[in-house]
Amino acid sequence: MSKTSEESIRCSFCSREKKEVNILIAGITGHICDSCIIQAHLIVKEEGGIKSKNEIENTLKLLTPKEIVENLGLHVIGQDEAKKVLSVAVYNHYKRLTQKNKTNDNIEIEKSNIIMIGETGTGKTLLAKTIANLLKVPFCIADATVLTEAGYVGEDVESILSRLLQAADYNVEAAERGIVFIDEIDKVARKSDNPSITRDVSGEGVQQAMLKLLEGTIVNVPPQGGRKHPEQKMIQIDTKNILFICGGAFDGISKIIERRVKSQSIGFNTLSDANFNDEKILSNVNQLDVKKYGLIPELIGRFPVLTYLHPLSEETLLSILTEPKNALTKQYVKLFEMDEINLIIKKEVLDFIVQKAILLNLGARGLRSICEAILTDSMFNAPDQKIKELVIDLSYAEKQFSKSKISKLKVA
Ligand code: ADP
Repeated sequence: MSKTSEESIRCSFCSREKKEVNILIAGITGHICDSCIIQAHLIVKEEGGIKSKNEIENTLKLLTPKEIVENLGLHVIGQDEAKKVLSVAVYNHYKRLTQKNKTNDNIEIEKSNIIMIGETGTGKTLLAKTIANLLKVPFCIADATVLTEAGYVGEDVESILSRLLQAADYNVEAAERGIVFIDEIDKVARKSDNPSITRDVSGEGVQQAMLKLLEGTIVNVPPQGGRKHPEQKMIQIDTKNILFICGGAFDGISKIIERRVKSQSIGFNTLSDANFNDEKILSNVNQLDVKKYGLIPELIGRFPVLTYLHPLSEETLLSILTEPKNALTKQYVKLFEMDEINLIIKKEVLDFIVQKAILLNLGARGLRSICEAILTDSMFNAPDQKIKELVIDLSYAEKQFSKSKISKLKVA
């Protein structure tokens, strides 16, 4: 190329010459410089944000609570009560969000933050995550146990929002309509029902610090998370339309519920001990029990919706293994299929996996580790064996399981 033709190459968007820019990328009929690429990227991002707001409105126009429940059913097995309560809460929350500014009657629909109570591995996180996916809103998970009051060792409560912002790809508008799942909220319960005299920075202190996030204020968020530094540039996030869903096992709460229900029913003779199996007790849970457990009334007040998840039965665990869109067995079949091997897991093996998961008391969380224990050797060997089909039967599953680390775990 001659010198003159080289010099005459310009960015087709801003007309700057090659020597004025860092990079000039050639297309079929023109060129684009690095700064125009950055500008264009920002425009695309902004447009994307607007689209996602419309997307929520459209999704909500399309999805009624019943349809939300149906969709959840593709991923989450059972937990019908929780699905129903969640779908209504989420539907109302986004209705509030999309109808904001359109009414003149001074009726302000309040937020529907949600608390979910249920043993570990019963689907609390999965429900929250699936709803966020369904609505295409940013979603993040925070662990209440690592949070402390500002100024103490641990993460500031605001760090939750940094995570949401990252999940929203730094689109503030999208983050402001996102869903935050705070796990293990029961672990920040205060230790007794009486307000403490000494400072309780990791329990009640965290609950206090969470209040302002939950009610809706503008929070200065360090974009990369971590501690706030004076010289760090902050991003302002308004939390009033962020939906907070908390989850916790609340170990021992059934005793509190039982005591309350029994004391309330004295004289009515309506409840026999037969009514008090764990599952039935949990279905009576209310805000008073959660307060007794150690959450402060101000925090409970900001979570108007309370629901519970059942412990998973053998039958449910079996369905979880095989039915959801992304069921574990489907994933393993897919993995082997990629090596052109047809994987067949016999029904007796599925039953075996479920029984072990129940013994380990890890809810559905245990299923994965048990499957890994059984299939790791096969996944290691199969690609070199040039086989077309692999059948996993009970004796093979038992043998593999018994030599795995997980079989040595103490039953909880
Ligand atoms: P937690 O209640 O402790 O938040 P998770 O939602 O994280 O439990 O569940 C752990 C894993 O177990 C999930 O990733 C999912 O694969 C499986 N799981 C748990 N409960 C269900 C359920 N009801 N339906 C389908 N899968 C489930």
